[in-house]
Order: sequence, then structure tokens, then C-alpha cells
Amino acid sequence: MSQGALVKRQFGHRARLVLSPAGVRAADGQAHAARTMWNLLHAWWRMMPKEERTLANADAAIRQARQDIDFLAVLPAQAAQAVLKTYFQAWKNCWEGRANAPDFKGRFRTVMSVDIPQGRDLNITRVHRRWGMATIPKVGRVRFRWTKDLPVGKRAGVENRITGARLIKDVLGWHIAFRVQTLEAEPDPHQGPDVGIDVGVTVPIALSDGETYEHGEWLTGKEQARLLHLEQRAAQRKRHRKPGEPTSRRLHHTYDQIAGMRAKAKRRALDWQHKTTTAIARTYGTVVVEALTIMNMVKSARGTIEAPGKNVAQKSGLNRSIHKEAWGRTVTMLAYKTARMGGTVVEIPAPGTSRRCSACGFTTPGSRESQAVFVCKNPDCGWSGNADHNAARNVLHLYRMGLALIPAAGRAVVRRAKRVKPAAAR
Ligand SMILES: [Zn+2]
Repeated sequence: MSQGALVKRQFGHRARLVLSPAGVRAADGQAHAARTMWNLLHAWWRMMPKEERTLANADAAIRQARQDIDFLAVLPAQAAQAVLKTYFQAWKNCWEGRANAPDFKGRFRTVMSVDIPQGRDLNITRVHRRWGMATIPKVGRVRFRWTKDLPVGKRAGVENRITGARLIKDVLGWHIAFRVQTLEAEPDPHQGPDVGIDVGVTVPIALSDGETYEHGEWLTGKEQARLLHLEQRAAQRKRHRKPGEPTSRRLHHTYDQIAGMRAKAKRRALDWQHKTTTAIARTYGTVVVEALTIMNMVKSARGTIEAPGKNVAQKSGLNRSIHKEAWGRTVTMLAYKTARMGGTVVEIPAPGTSRRCSACGFTTPGSRESQAVFVCKNPDCGWSGNADHNAARNVLHLYRMGLALIPAAGRAVVRRAKRVKPAAAR
């Protein structure tokens, strides 16, 4: 049997931690200390003249702070170093145009997290079919939910190992996110067909072959009513708070309940997204997506002047906030999932895909009859169909024409664009 080439793969795996009340307090303490460390670092940065903002100086400042401020000592030295590294990386991301400048981290707005940069410190073992154990610095041995075969013990090696982890707290409690590195056989090129995808207005995902992926509301009617009730309660409590008065325990509790409901909706959305992208990556060899631009981002339920949207109010709010971040994540998921299955994701800059007819290629005014319906007004054509399906067909067509090719991920060698005549492409 011939063995294919091996490719390195890096991914994260998140598991739920079981912590004792003391463990939760310890983890909370570490996360607060890590955040304080960040804020001290940021204050130091702003105070320092430009030429003295070096890694060595920052390191010295951190060491001094850990000696001077008692509660910072609860943070393991490795985690403090990780904060330093992340902070400098944040500036690098800013200078290279990927992110905004780092800022102070507020107590209630920040996700609580602690870095464990060294994988070998974790000392992971599997103790049960469903449970693993890991050592967390200054917390001790803790159990976590074993839902994936991790490269530990005899299965670990130089190439297959856990390189680090991060503790993250969300509404369900503390989780551990492992950084896993493996060496796997390179997948055979995917033999599936090409497909274009449009992020729909009437359907969440429309494919060029007519397939659509839809989902209902993330929260049931009852849950939505409860969320509204909680939001109203929070607003009322906020109104009755006198200026300068600290936020009450009750209000904090209501905020937590609201966060819980929103997180539930988000988990359901994420689950749907994972299932959808896995199905697409399994079926198709080349997946063509519209490159993310500002235009896409503002493509909203409101629609255009020609084709105003329906149920605008219902589609805004919670659903929109999930939807907004969803497309970028869909592309990311598709990129790594297709790559694992030997496929490719191609991004094309595709302006006007929703207004152009995918059968004749003309943009005729008024063709987009409504949010859902596209009827070509070209007298020689008259193609009609779902507007999102039409856009997906345009996306695929642009790829087949070889107009623009930006490989997002997947095979190292980009498949040469097939020069297909427009008639044959459709
Ligand atoms: Zn047409």
C-alpha cells in the first residue's frame, strides 16, 4: 500500500472542565489577575517613550509587578508571559491592519481566560471512557469531558501532541481549549463537483445547484418571550438605579440570565453552521464563495429600495447579530473542512451577483422583483427563480470564467480555472 504525503494539522479542541468551588475561585482569580496584568501592561506602554517599549523592558515591568502586587502572584509565571506575548502580538496585528489598537480590558466586558502555554505541564491522561484529567497550574488535577481522541500518552510524539491550552469561562462555566498538533495523511483530491454559494437574504445559504440550507429561529417562541421579559426587567432595574450607585446583585443576576439565553441561541447557530459546512465540504470538491466585503456585511434584512425586505424588525436584533458574524465563520469552517477532505475553497470578488441574471448574464433594471424572486427582464431570456439561487449561480459562473482566483485554503496547487464558454458553463 502506498503511503501518501503527510501534512501537519493544527486545531483546537474545547472540553468542559469539572472544577470544585475552590477550583472555580482559583481559576477566576487567575483570569482576573491576567486581565489586570494586561491593563498594567497597557498603562505601562502608554506611559513609556516609544524607544523604551521593548519586550525586555516590559518583561522586567511584569516581574516587578508580580513582586509588588500580591494578588498578581496567583497567576502562574507562564501565564503572565503569555499575557505579555499576546499584548505585543495585539500591537503587531494593529500595525499590520488586522485589528484595532489594544485597549484596557473591562471587568464585565472581557471574556475570562487564562493561558497555559506549555502542553507538557498539562500531563493529560484518560481515566474513563468519557473523562480525561489534566493538571492546571496552581489549580491542580481536574477532570474534563473526553469527547475526542487526543494525542496523549503512548499516542503522543514529536508530531502528534498537545502544544498548549487555554482556560475559557463562558455562561456554562470553565472550559479548556487544547491546542492540538497532528501529522495526518494528505487527503486525495476531492472528486466532487464545483459549487457556488451565496449568503442569502431569504435563505441563509443557497447553492448554485439549487440546494438550500435553512434554519428556524434559534430560540423558541417561549424562549424569545422570556428573553424579552428579562431584557425589560434589566432595563427597568437600570432605570431605577441612582447615578453613581453600583450595579445591584439582582441586576447582575438578570444580566447573567440574559447572557445565558443569548449564548444558547449562539450555540444552536454554531451547531447548525457546523453541520451545514460539514455537509457541503463532504459533497463538493471546489466551493466558490463571495469574498467578504463591506457590501456583503451591510446586506441586511432591510433589502434594497427596489426590493424592500419583509419582517425587518424580526430579522434585526439577536438574529442579525448572529448572522453578521456568521458568514466569515462559514468561510473559515468551509476552508478547513474542505482542506481536510481534499477540496478547495475559492473566494471571488463578486459585485452585483444578486442583480445580474445567471442565465443570460445581463443586469436589467427591475429583475430582482422582490427579496425572494428574480425574474429576468431581458426580453430574450426571461429566466426566473429564487434570487439567492440566482446569485449562487453567478458566483460559480465567475469562478468558471476564471475572472478572479483567490485560494482561501485547501490544496497547495490551485486548480487552473477552466475556460468554459458562457453557454456551456450554465
Ligand atoms: Zn436573463
